[in-house]
Amino acid sequence: MTSVPGTQPAASEPLTDLDFANPCFLGPGGENSEVFERVLLELLRDHVYWRRNFHPEDPPPIPVLAMHQPGYVEFVDRMRTELNALTAALKRSVPFFNPRYLGHMVSDTLLPGLLAQLVTTLYNPNNVSPEAAPVTLELELKVGGQLARMLGFATDPARDPCAWGHLTSGGTLANYESLVNLRALRCYPLALKDALRATRLPLPLTAADGRPLAELDDWTLFNLPLDDVMALPQQLAALLSERTAPADARTLYQTLAEARVEHTGLVDFTECHPACAALSVLAPVTAHYSWRKAAKVLGFGSGRLVTVPVDSHMRLSLPALERHLEECVRKKIPVLAVVAVLGTTEFGTLDPLQEIAALRSRFRQRGLEFALHVDAAWGGYLASIFREPDGSLATHAAVREGFRYFPSAPVYASFAALKLADSITVDPHKLGYLPYGIGGIVWRDRRVRDFLGEKAPYVFDHDSQSAAARERQPQLGEYILEGSKPGAAAAAAWVAHRVLPLDRVHLGRLQRHTILASEYFFDRLPFLEQRLKGRARLVVPFEPDTNLLCLAINPEGNRELAAMNRFGRRLYVHLGIDPDRPVQLREFFSSHTRVTRDMLGAEDLSRVMGALGIAAETFVIAVDDQNTQADSLFLLRHTLMNPWLLERVDGKSCIDRYLEYLEGLIVAELELGVWCDPGSGDPSTAASRSRYS
Ligand SMILES: *Cc1c(COP(=O)(O)O)cnc(C)c1O
Repeated sequence: MTSVPGTQPAASEPLTDLDFANPCFLGPGGENSEVFERVLLELLRDHVYWRRNFHPEDPPPIPVLAMHQPGYVEFVDRMRTELNALTAALKRSVPFFNPRYLGHMVSDTLLPGLLAQLVTTLYNPNNVSPEAAPVTLELELKVGGQLARMLGFATDPARDPCAWGHLTSGGTLANYESLVNLRALRCYPLALKDALRATRLPLPLTAADGRPLAELDDWTLFNLPLDDVMALPQQLAALLSERTAPADARTLYQTLAEARVEHTGLVDFTECHPACAALSVLAPVTAHYSWRKAAKVLGFGSGRLVTVPVDSHMRLSLPALERHLEECVRKKIPVLAVVAVLGTTEFGTLDPLQEIAALRSRFRQRGLEFALHVDAAWGGYLASIFREPDGSLATHAAVREGFRYFPSAPVYASFAALKLADSITVDPHKLGYLPYGIGGIVWRDRRVRDFLGEKAPYVFDHDSQSAAARERQPQLGEYILEGSKPGAAAAAAWVAHRVLPLDRVHLGRLQRHTILASEYFFDRLPFLEQRLKGRARLVVPFEPDTNLLCLAINPEGNRELAAMNRFGRRLYVHLGIDPDRPVQLREFFSSHTRVTRDMLGAEDLSRVMGALGIAAETFVIAVDDQNTQADSLFLLRHTLMNPWLLERVDGKSCIDRYLEYLEGLIVAELELGVWCDPGSGDPSTAASRSRYS
């Protein structure tokens, strides 16, 4: 969002076309409780009838008289006591549903999803396998298709590649899965070559360009394009059925299974294949911390997660990525994947997907391959703004309509390039407005499953009817990291996406509103800046790409970062969640984040510090005992996703009221002046908190 210097920001009415959203949620004041109760009761009763009508001829095991027995009555009393205690305690929960909440990546949940989840829980399906979830397992895979279509992947089952996706407990698990599966894929050709050699079966397997597999070295095999690798299992199966006896085929599959990294483990595999040692994953320094956890959990070691610097827009820096890749070519360091983020957790910024995909093509010419995983846990659902109901990509002009800044050319290009990814993480429990416990991952090519089954392919029966049934109702637990998992999550996503399809005239309108709210917030800031002139400086260090907005605030005249951070943290005392303080006493909620020194290049350091009036040398990599220094920059962070942010009360939207409140906090803190004192300590400690409550 670039505001042209000298022009006045628009003070006009914000664009609101949110009437359609009125029935979508329970509502900040429970406005839709009547609908909610009526539908829920209807579905509850319907569930009970279903129970009752399952062999109604059976005598009921719980006699009517049981209700009058002392033990029964006591149980019900105890249950109600505990439930009341629970819901009393839950009143201290965070009011995500309210537009006064501008904190983390959460808001109210869509009624269709919420009702579907509550009701499906009564049936308690387990999506680990079709035996435990005859209905919801199929729904889960259909949700995978809905997400794939929104993101721009091909979804025609009649041809390859056809996308395949499923749900996870969250984005973290989806990210783990991407690395596990990519490792399985990328190491497969090496194991296949080993198996061919060991069994001495003369099978003429080739890469897509016709080079015989048996003649390729390990480095080349690891660096085969993913599309080539995806085709290998089918090529192998065809050759085996043409040229070998079933017993030989079994032997080969057995040998292959034992040669794969899943069987040998990373240590033995890299001992046999030194080309795969030092396997690395490249991700921007803004990547979510789940990537560090993934590297630890999967045994790569978090040291193998190479962090790539970002540019002044908090987007992955292409020159820096290119330099890293050059080094990998030179030193023959295998790159498992480049992770690009679509909607960084802290800043909502978007990495340049199109250019990263172009780099992939360029480095492919030089024998270095990498998979492209897009972590769109946050921003994935914003793709619905770009999707026409017929599935095509909306034009840039069409998407721009009604916005002041969004989407800039790079932002549009990134969404258009999503389809070039190999896999994408997307979280329905974030911008999908669904209850927690629903994450998701989508693979561009469903053939990824050929590499994952716990069983070797030859144990499957091959008649086409059961193959089709398997496609609809796979043993999901065999392909994914999780085991038992709630079918209710799939039902919630399915129903929500049916009621509000993932395109720009349905769910996209809600997504659009999050951007409008952010543009409004951004446009109001100069007014606040003006009012604080001479007293404090207000800086948006990175222009928002989407719906997250971070603010740095420095008292005028202060030159030390440590003091500025103290000031920011003192403001945050009034804006964060305090477990010891009833949430009802809070006016507004925001969140905070930090920028470390390594996230800023020299130019950005002087740009941001200059705008704040801070001496750049007080921002250091590691603090020594001087109180004037700091190793990070404190920012107030606002996630603008509540549907009612622009709703006006007495002519003022919630954003207006928040900014007035923030102004009051700033002025009060300036008058108190405690932030000047380096000894005033961390305001998040209980002692200083009590001073302020
Ligand atoms: C939230 C987030 C994650 C983690 O998702 P969970 O659902 O919290 O596990 C990963 N990546 C990004 C970019 C995120 O914003």
